[in-house]
Amino acid sequence: MTRFSAWEVFRQGLRGQTGWSRQWRDPEPKARYDVVIVGGGLHGLATAFYLAENHGITNVAVLEKGWIGGGNGGRNTTIVRSNYAQPANRRFYEHSLRLWEDLSHELNYNVMFSQRSHIALQHSPGAMDRAARNYNLMRRTGTPDAEIWGLDRLRAEVPHLNYGPDARFPIVGAAVQTRAGTARHDAVAWGYARGADGRGVDILQNCEVTGVARDGDRITALETTRGRIEAGRVGFAVAGHTSQLWQMAGLGGLPIESHLLQAFVSEPLKPLLDQVVVFGVGGAHFYISQSDKGGMVFGGDLDWYKSFSQRGNLPIVHDVSEAAMSILPCLGRVKLLRHWGGVMDMSMDGSPFICRTPLRNLYLNAGWNYGGFKATPASGWWFADLIANERPDPMVADYTLDRFARGLQIDERGAGADAKLHG
Ligand SMILES: Cc1cc2nc3c(=O)[nH]c(=O)nc-3n(C[C@H](O)[C@H](O)[C@H](O)COP(=O)(O)OP(=O)(O)OC[C@H]3O[C@@H](n4cnc5c(N)ncnc54)[C@H](O)[C@@H]3O)c2cc1C
Repeated sequence: MTRFSAWEVFRQGLRGQTGWSRQWRDPEPKARYDVVIVGGGLHGLATAFYLAENHGITNVAVLEKGWIGGGNGGRNTTIVRSNYAQPANRRFYEHSLRLWEDLSHELNYNVMFSQRSHIALQHSPGAMDRAARNYNLMRRTGTPDAEIWGLDRLRAEVPHLNYGPDARFPIVGAAVQTRAGTARHDAVAWGYARGADGRGVDILQNCEVTGVARDGDRITALETTRGRIEAGRVGFAVAGHTSQLWQMAGLGGLPIESHLLQAFVSEPLKPLLDQVVVFGVGGAHFYISQSDKGGMVFGGDLDWYKSFSQRGNLPIVHDVSEAAMSILPCLGRVKLLRHWGGVMDMSMDGSPFICRTPLRNLYLNAGWNYGGFKATPASGWWFADLIANERPDPMVADYTLDRFARGLQIDERGAGADAKLHG
């Protein structure tokens, strides 16, 4: 694997770009691995990377039914932030944001993490009060960049929002996290894949898991489209397809539903917005940023029916366009370039699972809702830690499946720095 550096770019320039090596191998599956991760999305790849990097476990395979990053990993709107309210989520997402801040160096791969303010617009005095409470909580618990902006500051920073008194949801202020940002999602998948492969992990694409062989409460092997693969330990990191794998493993009852979520990108524009703006709290549901290529990247609500189709419906296109127009009327004549859908693993309280399962050597990583992109580094870090040490670290000890049975939901859906309303 060629290491990227300014010197290497210069050297390859002199050699006519002929000396770059493949970013990752395309190996044949081995008969057995110590750890098999199912799902070559961001979380599966990050887990494999940290298994090798942090724990020295390298006899690892990542099984991906399509191409790596072809699921939600390559379909999201790439918003990164750590403005959560519940203690378990607060410490986890803040750790993730800190990993993001050094990720390009860690992976020796430019993931284009671009820090910028995440501006959650508020539309009533009550919403402002609630935001102030939550953002004060953030400042008191290790997230120093939580701010409340009044209208004067907001107008100065984002002049072209619809501040009109007749707006459907008049803006009264904003809750802002200044270290939030966006990153290039494909680069995150490729960077983790390259890092894991360089440490000995086999990344097996076009390798769909079609069955799970068990001996009592242990998984012995996975049936795949590239043959049978025996596994010492198994991690499921298949996001919206978790229920399918769960059934293959002979397990029943999972507090996750698979829902469609669409994303949209416009034709490239000159620089218009250098923040992430969220129009949501007490208003519509809409979030928008501008990519390095100039496209306006935005999204809104789920399609509100369950599906694995990765393709959304026109009513949501209508709904999201209306929200765009009501908050940024200057977008009225912009052309939509593309839109697509992903399969979201929605948990019942809006918080994830990084936990053991009823099977002794099966571990679960799922339930990411709208928060899975920003969670990627910490998710991989702590899932690898769980699999390597066969016990949850206190950092993720609350992310269990049985929290619903015990009445210990981590409810980030209805209030506060809500996963659903913040993109
Ligand atoms: C439109 C949209 C916008 C979003 N915006 C944001 C955002 O702005 N910020 C944010 O934090 N999060 C966002 N998310 C959520 C985020 O993208 C996901 O939570 C996260 O990507 C899920 O983790 P993953 O990358 O590992 O999932 P995926 O990339 O979906 O990985 C799972 C992989 O498992 C594979 N797989 C499934 N079944 C099998 C099988 N049987 N055998 C082998 N492989 C299998 C799939 O092919 C897939 O590649 C968004 C999601 C969508 C859809």
